[in-house]
Amino acid sequence: MTVTGETILAGIMGWPVAHSRSPQLHGYWLEKYGINGLVVPLAVRAERLEVAVRGLPALGFRGSNVTIPHKEAVAAHLDRVTDVAARIGAVNTIMVAEDGTLTGTNTDAFGFMAHLKQSVPDWRPEASAVVLGAGGAARAVVAALLDEGVPEIRLLNRTRERAESFAAHFGAAGITVLDWDMRAKALLDAGLLVNATSLGMTGKAALDLSLDGLSAEAVVYDLVYSPLRTPLLAAAQTRGAITVDGLGMLLHQARPAFEAWFGRDPAVDAGLRDHLVRDLGIAQ
Ligand code: NAP
Repeated sequence: MTVTGETILAGIMGWPVAHSRSPQLHGYWLEKYGINGLVVPLAVRAERLEVAVRGLPALGFRGSNVTIPHKEAVAAHLDRVTDVAARIGAVNTIMVAEDGTLTGTNTDAFGFMAHLKQSVPDWRPEASAVVLGAGGAARAVVAALLDEGVPEIRLLNRTRERAESFAAHFGAAGITVLDWDMRAKALLDAGLLVNATSLGMTGKAALDLSLDGLSAEAVVYDLVYSPLRTPLLAAAQTRGAITVDGLGMLLHQARPAFEAWFGRDPAVDAGLRDHLVRDLGIAQ
């Protein structure tokens, strides 16, 4: 692609930023839809975050993704933060309005639910859900499940206090915090199990969890996407459970940003998955 004066610009801000796959992900769609746009890696140190964010409108950027370590700090430098970003406590996408004002949002909850609905179209939020973890990813999952109307979320984290303060932040209604040791029992009657811990990632221990109590109709969703088939998903498949991998969430969460910056809701298709699997060197 040739960059011209007409090229629509967006950024990905982080420190370091070289690991981010946002340019490749958006680049696939820009090429597919023939849009003259570019997502530029912006290596921004914490002490220059404000000047960098406030400079986006002056530089003609439509917005930016935000990654580690700025996801929490960036909100202080924006004009507005969406309700979902406030609940999750992190901003991963900035949108620049025509008048130059800056809005921050978080698209992980959208990405989580969009991938669940694409993978399991007849999933219904009628039974309880079990969520393992209490980091940023778990907060996005819980926001999505509450918005969808899941009646009860059983939240379990190795460090129980972290789960409790996160439940309190969400207003606690609909969230039951349980001890990490209760994770096998928590599966009884659940319609959905979500691993939002880092267990099962390449190079990390597997999640130690017996699935014996899981109902045959339950969906098992692992946010870990490298490897694609985690030990948890492999065990769930052996039992005949419906499984959902983490890569789709990563792809779907980019859709709202692409639409805001480049004016089109892009499709998450097999070609995009293959593109990212190759680019990230993910084990299948
Ligand atoms: P994070 O804030 O660092 O949280 C990590 C979570 O894993 C915490 O709940 C932590 O428990 C738990 N954990 C770590 N080691 C553990 C162990 N040995 N035993 C039990 N629990 C352990 O990370 P995050 O940003 O929430 O991300 C969590 C996972 O989701 C990562 O694998 C990440 O790659 C994935 N993720 C995927 C997507 C996607 O689009 N698919 C998006 C975001 C994140 P403690 O609180 O006790 O430390």
